[in-house]
Amino acid sequence: MKNASLSVAIVGTGPAALMAADVLSHSTHRVSIFEKRKSLGRKLLIAGSSGLNITNDLPVDEFARHYSGPPELWQHVLKGFTPQDWIQFIEKLGSPTFKGTSGRYFVQDMKATGVLKKWKSRLDERGVQFYFDSECVDFEVLSDSKKISLTFQNGKNDRFDAILFALGGGSYETKEDPLRWPEIFKRKGIAFENFTPSNVGLKVDWSKEFLKEAEGKPLKNILLTSKKGSRRGELVITSYGIEGTPVYFVGQEGNVQIDLKPDLSPEQLISKCRAFRENLSPMRRVKKQLNLSDAALALLFHEAEHDSKSTIETLCKIIKSFPITLTGKQPLAEAISSAGGLNLNEIDPSFMLKRFPGVFVGGEMLDWDAPTGGFLIQGCISQGKTIGSSILKFLV
Ligand SMILES: Cc1cc2nc3c(=O)[nH]c(=O)nc-3n(C[C@H](O)[C@H](O)[C@H](O)COP(=O)(O)OP(=O)(O)OC[C@H]3O[C@@H](n4cnc5c(N)ncnc54)[C@H](O)[C@@H]3O)c2cc1C
Repeated sequence: MKNASLSVAIVGTGPAALMAADVLSHSTHRVSIFEKRKSLGRKLLIAGSSGLNITNDLPVDEFARHYSGPPELWQHVLKGFTPQDWIQFIEKLGSPTFKGTSGRYFVQDMKATGVLKKWKSRLDERGVQFYFDSECVDFEVLSDSKKISLTFQNGKNDRFDAILFALGGGSYETKEDPLRWPEIFKRKGIAFENFTPSNVGLKVDWSKEFLKEAEGKPLKNILLTSKKGSRRGELVITSYGIEGTPVYFVGQEGNVQIDLKPDLSPEQLISKCRAFRENLSPMRRVKKQLNLSDAALALLFHEAEHDSKSTIETLCKIIKSFPITLTGKQPLAEAISSAGGLNLNEIDPSFMLKRFPGVFVGGEMLDWDAPTGGFLIQGCISQGKTIGSSILKFLV
């Protein structure tokens, strides 16, 4: 432990918290991290179970346009710690990265375990103290000393010179361990927008026959069009409906159209299907000639209106624009991220609560949102960097 007069508490062990701790660990201040769970970075570990997409190679100005909230806030934090800075940081920790499709960066082993292990060792070596099983239930800025008192679930109380809360968003909480932190802030009159699911699967009333053949299978390289616009990418058929970046972009119920062959025009599809003489039904011709995936063929076979399968022309028409009705969102507990959180008007540009000097907040617990593609982690990491530097300035 460092022998210094000033102390900082960081509550939470997600990317925002760890990056702020890293910045502060270079100073002489004593840094303590409190986490309600038994180990660190639960959501990063969950993220890693489907391939840890750490960031994206877009230039900062374009990157910043992917976030809700004030553009100047995002320009500021992203310029303070860019996607390239983050990639280099991970590489220096000893975890190689690679660039996948659509400019997305991943850690080579696709999981968060290695990064978290190496990062914790580095923070341990620099004297950062970790306290697990420590759920913070309240805070108070003491008027006499200006210190901030933190109270934990076991009644324990401790005082610090500055605090960062990086408690995460509303998604993926379990019934056994529900999200309790919003109450701490609501009690103090801090404006909080209720969490709603974001980047979440949408429901579709699939037939049993279709699910039997297609559940868990991908619809690769499709173009999904909704009132909001079009998005290319991959979808996965699930028992309740559909998952994947294009559908996260739609984000709400309504009618959408899937182009199952976006690189070919209807005329090209028709001429490919007519390119041989055998006497086959339109469906057999499509199957033989268009190289459609199993899920796409099952979609045509089980979910298309009977009439649309009667001729090559009508079949190619629905291949280019397959209508689907999205009937609702999956719940918050199954969303990748959440919209809502502490209102951004409550913080100043250094991420300090305007009404509570010395109390900083950051990461997904704030009311901002972004699509998948590495934007969520990068947003939290860049905020963590800004907040770490802000705390250093505050303590001068
Ligand atoms: C299935 C899934 C896949 C994802 N994939 C990706 C991806 O590939 N790329 C990407 O960019 N993003 C991804 N994300 C999103 C990303 O993981 C989050 O945006 C990010 O982890 C949020 O970081 P954070 O620092 O705000 O807090 P979190 O990582 O949510 O951490 C907050 C921490 O605070 C702790 N805590 C909460 N309350 C208290 C309290 N009162 N006292 C003490 N501790 C407390 C929590 O236990 C938690 O450990 C994914 C998310 C999910 C669920």
